[in-house]
Amino acid sequence: MNSVRVRFPPSPTGFCHVGTARMAIVNYLFARKNNGTIIFRSEDTDKERSTREFEDDIKDSLTWLGLSWDEFHRQSERIDVYRAEIEKLIDEDKAYVSDEESKKDPGTMVSVIRLRNSGKTITFTDVIRGDISFDTTELKDFVIARSKDDPLYHLAVVVDDAAMGITHVIRGEDHISNTPRQILIQEALGAKRPMYAHYPLHLSLDRAKLSKRKGDVAVKNYREKGYLPQALLNYLATLGWTAPSGREVLSLDEMVQEFELSDLHKSGAVFDVEKLRWFNREYMLKLSDSAFASEALSWLENSLTHLNWNESIAKKIIPLVRERISVWSDIHEQSMNGEYDYFFVQPSVEAHLIPMKKISAAKTAEHLRDIKTLLEALNVFDVSSIKDALWPYATKEGRGAVLWPFRYSLTGKEQSPDPFLVASILGKDETVRRVSKAIASLS
Ligand code: GLU
Repeated sequence: MNSVRVRFPPSPTGFCHVGTARMAIVNYLFARKNNGTIIFRSEDTDKERSTREFEDDIKDSLTWLGLSWDEFHRQSERIDVYRAEIEKLIDEDKAYVSDEESKKDPGTMVSVIRLRNSGKTITFTDVIRGDISFDTTELKDFVIARSKDDPLYHLAVVVDDAAMGITHVIRGEDHISNTPRQILIQEALGAKRPMYAHYPLHLSLDRAKLSKRKGDVAVKNYREKGYLPQALLNYLATLGWTAPSGREVLSLDEMVQEFELSDLHKSGAVFDVEKLRWFNREYMLKLSDSAFASEALSWLENSLTHLNWNESIAKKIIPLVRERISVWSDIHEQSMNGEYDYFFVQPSVEAHLIPMKKISAAKTAEHLRDIKTLLEALNVFDVSSIKDALWPYATKEGRGAVLWPFRYSLTGKEQSPDPFLVASILGKDETVRRVSKAIASLS
């Protein structure tokens, strides 16, 4: 039996793009489902644009997502292999050295290596798209290397796919037009044709190609924003694939179990950050309270640097934070918007905003004085005791008339969580202090 061998062949010319991650995920699921082997091949023949930093970032990002591979190769270390194949093609007169005028630099002569192309029609079967035919006449005798030691992408890919025994080439449909050239080279080399599967690319919300200008494209951007790797992995996997069970939230192992190449969608998916946030929230809900708390605390501490850090208050607001975020970086944004400031410092309140509409300042001051008396009598100061103490009074006097000024006195904000929760976090002394201050500003 022909055991499955697939490849992750990124070109290390940029940070790991989410499209590269999708390519790796699809290949990973297919290989692991079929007990196959995964070959990571760093396609770094473009010397000007390839860097080790980008290669490391791609390895790191894929590992962070939970992916792995079985073999690693670097094309720049295989120049001898390509040279031998180029020489063989020239010896067999399937390719030739051509001295011609440089296109880049008119007037100067260069020598390149071209493949002899008879211009036949190439037909291949794509697992996702069915039979595809190309008339290769227009490709003419295309260039496969700038010199024997400087192979171009198509040659290196074909030589490597053959040498590494690749059985399935699974990649985005932006590579479909490369396939006829690669098959021509394969045939010249006498190499076996792998199975091809070209899946549709994903697009940004406006259906344009995902680009830097339109938002984050690198895995590391999502990592830095505090997305969980399982959530990004799950989202990217299901972007162009639906599990037969219909489940959306799946672990990597569960995806492997359910994966079939033929279930990949035939039309392009849209990369929707809101949907990714939904996945992330799902995975955040699975975190234990203590795991959530320790990460949330460090995000709070790093984001609230404009305030005096108060760890005990910070710990108390964790449950509230947990309800309000989908991604860790939401903590940063909310903090920058001042949404947590009033827990740490007395807010400034504007006297005219304290009373509810249509209620006089005098009446509001009276309500706040009564609230203060009721709160001062409490021995236990948790959400339910505070609520039990104030609710009958608020019901009698009008909930808005009583609770609006109470909440606003504590937070200085027109929108904020309910005042019982806020008061319980601030504690009795601070709550009473803020209510007193509001009373004073009303007189
Ligand atoms: N190195 C190529 C790229 O990053 C992929 C090659 C292939 O899938 O055949 O676009």
